[in-house]
Amino acid sequence: MELDKDIQTMQRGFHCSLCVVNIPNKPSLEDHVKGKKHQHLLRLRAQRKAQEENGVFVSGFKPDTSQTDLKEYFTQFGPVSDVIMDKDKGVYAIVEFSEPQNAQAALAQLQHQLNGLKLRVKPRERKEFKLASKGKRDSKNTQISLDKLNLEICKATSVNEQMQKVVESFELKDNEKKVRDLLVQLLQEVFTEFFPDCQIVPFGSSVNTFGIHSCDLDLFLDLENTKVFQARAKSSEVETGENQSEDCRSEDSILSDIDLSTASTAEVLELVAVILRKCVPGVHKVQTLSTARLPVVKFSHRELNLHGDITINNRLAVRNTRFLQLCSGIDSRLRPLVYTIRLWAKQKQLAGNLSGPGPLLNNYALTLLVIFYLQNRDPPVLPSVNQLKNMACEEEECIIEEWDCTFPSQPYSVPPSKNTEDLCNLLSGFFTFYSKFDFSASVVSLRDGHVLPITDFLQIDDEAASDSKPRRSSAPKLGPMNVLDPFELNHNVAGNLNERTQKNFKRECCEAEKYCRSLQYQRKSTKGKSWGLVRLFALPCESGPRSQVGTEKVMEVSIPFKAAILPEPLRAQLALAGNGFRGLWFAKVCSAVHMVFQDILKCSPLEETQAAAVCQNLDKTDRDENEMEVNNNRSVEDSGLQAKSETGKKRPLTVEEGPSTSTDVQAKRQRLEADLEHPEPVHWTWTQRKCVWAGRRKVRRDLLKTGDVISKPEGGCVDIESRVTQSIVEKEEKLQDLLEFKVDAEVVGGDESTKVVLHFHPSQDTAGVFQDFFHFLESFLPKMAETILGRVGS
Ligand code: ATP
Ligand code: MG
Repeated sequence: MELDKDIQTMQRGFHCSLCVVNIPNKPSLEDHVKGKKHQHLLRLRAQRKAQEENGVFVSGFKPDTSQTDLKEYFTQFGPVSDVIMDKDKGVYAIVEFSEPQNAQAALAQLQHQLNGLKLRVKPRERKEFKLASKGKRDSKNTQISLDKLNLEICKATSVNEQMQKVVESFELKDNEKKVRDLLVQLLQEVFTEFFPDCQIVPFGSSVNTFGIHSCDLDLFLDLENTKVFQARAKSSEVETGENQSEDCRSEDSILSDIDLSTASTAEVLELVAVILRKCVPGVHKVQTLSTARLPVVKFSHRELNLHGDITINNRLAVRNTRFLQLCSGIDSRLRPLVYTIRLWAKQKQLAGNLSGPGPLLNNYALTLLVIFYLQNRDPPVLPSVNQLKNMACEEEECIIEEWDCTFPSQPYSVPPSKNTEDLCNLLSGFFTFYSKFDFSASVVSLRDGHVLPITDFLQIDDEAASDSKPRRSSAPKLGPMNVLDPFELNHNVAGNLNERTQKNFKRECCEAEKYCRSLQYQRKSTKGKSWGLVRLFALPCESGPRSQVGTEKVMEVSIPFKAAILPEPLRAQLALAGNGFRGLWFAKVCSAVHMVFQDILKCSPLEETQAAAVCQNLDKTDRDENEMEVNNNRSVEDSGLQAKSETGKKRPLTVEEGPSTSTDVQAKRQRLEADLEHPEPVHWTWTQRKCVWAGRRKVRRDLLKTGDVISKPEGGCVDIESRVTQSIVEKEEKLQDLLEFKVDAEVVGGDESTKVVLHFHPSQDTAGVFQDFFHFLESFLPKMAETILGRVGS
């Protein structure tokens, strides 16, 4: 029985959720379940289960209570095999009995008293048994400290207080800051020996007011003054003709080996690594990453138990650290919000790439999302970066690499916010704000303090070169989430995110938003149950193989808007359409979907239903019949999605239609926007007589063997896929009965991520094959549509 629960049948093979592995076939499955790992985990799980059943959770005793005291007390219910105490604070203990009935007896007793204090005795929390992943000691430690934190914050009286407790538990304490300062001093001394007049400047979470105990020490090695020093030394050498500088350092110095004015970053960092390895006591694990976006030398300090990074050419990061410090100083609500949201995001596996680059949010990007949200509160909690710039005085002007990084140096230059919301409200507002956010079609701009439409970034903006506009000479890398750096305006700080992380972020925001509306969030439990933030920090819901038992599957396929993959001509058209870009993109997607069904999968449009659909559409609008006819089983560009011409007549908007040549671009843009902002849904009815979805892989393999086609992944090539279908159509038997299905397409966005949603309904499926066809379409259709969209106009 136990076995059945752990093994799920997948579309292809099996999945063992105990060992978290996929197994391709039955014989391998038999081997797997008899294997060492599976058997070991079965035993371990049984052992854990027994421990859970035999144990009780005890709290409410005096801090000086010993294990023996507890053991003696609980022995009245049966033999106690172990007492595990929370060593640091003596707030709770787990008492393990030899038998589960002893635990039951202890739980059944209504009152417990020890040394004059009432004890609370509760069942042990039942945790789902999960395979611990390799190398995640850190997450285990976090879990332990989180368990403690949860216990602490349950005692608080409000969510506001809970959030303050989160800060207190995680923030860097004075002694930790001192240790970091000491290391900076030590490095400063050593590096000055080799790079005279250099400066070691800490930045990042150690100093940005959002640091936590284990955070790394980010350091910027500023060599500007050293370059001046070296240049001066050189010119004095030339003047005196001697190979010595004014303070006699250059001959033996490492500086004599390198010319800082011409050396590459990699060369300088190599020297930094050598100095760290050879000259700084306690430093080990020195590693140079010279191919990273920002080349860096990583190191650890053994005794201080610190990990550090040294970068050069990183002045912008030092400045954005000052910006975060300033924001913290402007409004004291920012810190508790950031600490709480960072912890939530870490628990939900949305932020905190384990080592270096990864597909999750980094803490900097997450903090910017919090600040942006606060800029968008009504009234705003924080001003936009442009507003901050205007509050700065002349001496505070700061330009780095041509980017304007001006803002006041002190928070008192910024008038206090009129917003009086408490932390509890602001936190739930954060989740609401991002649960309704259209990430794929908007660009978060802290500089402007509001969202910018993605269409502003689809064309490289020549006019932006003018002084009045911020520089955008190269566009940011667009992705599933677009968060512009407040200073380096062509840098998307969330550019590393993948589709999955963005979706998970959104989903977790929706979950959190729902939870925040419940009483459990807002009110302390009178029964000692977990409440407020505790539930928010629970691990994410399992996203393993979806069980379909008992749940009716929604027949829906989504095609997300992905600006990054669109070809240049299509980007230009979308840019021109402004707010109407969704309608235009919808037309392109529908056209692509139409092509997939008709040309690639050789489905046939159902003639008889056209009239009915046309009538339906006519009810809704007063468009003429010709136009309606094409909104059913014809390419959408020749169909319902049409732009009005100046005379009010409609004309088709074709895929190939290029950017306007009209001089009145603005007027045309407004017209397009009005027409395309709210496009009507599109409906098709298709029929198919062959199982064109079955056995495609093999047919494709055979086709590729013929050598006249270049291999492409499934859905990656119109020609290959059409030929695969053709081959199936020629060889396969016809279905006994015709398969007939309806597809309704609509575009959504604005208050959720922009995407086309296709709803499927089988209207005739006596052969019972539509489910299989739909499975195939779920992955094939979005890929194929993207491939076709990628060719539009190119
Ligand atoms: P932690 O180290 O606790 O994860 P952090 O803020 O120090 O948080 P790091 O990834 O160590 O994050 O980055 C250090 C600093 O570098 C950031 O605080 C920020 O100033 C800058 N930084 C990090 N990532 C980016 C980015 N994508 N774009 C611009 N600056 C960044
Ligand atoms: Mg850091």
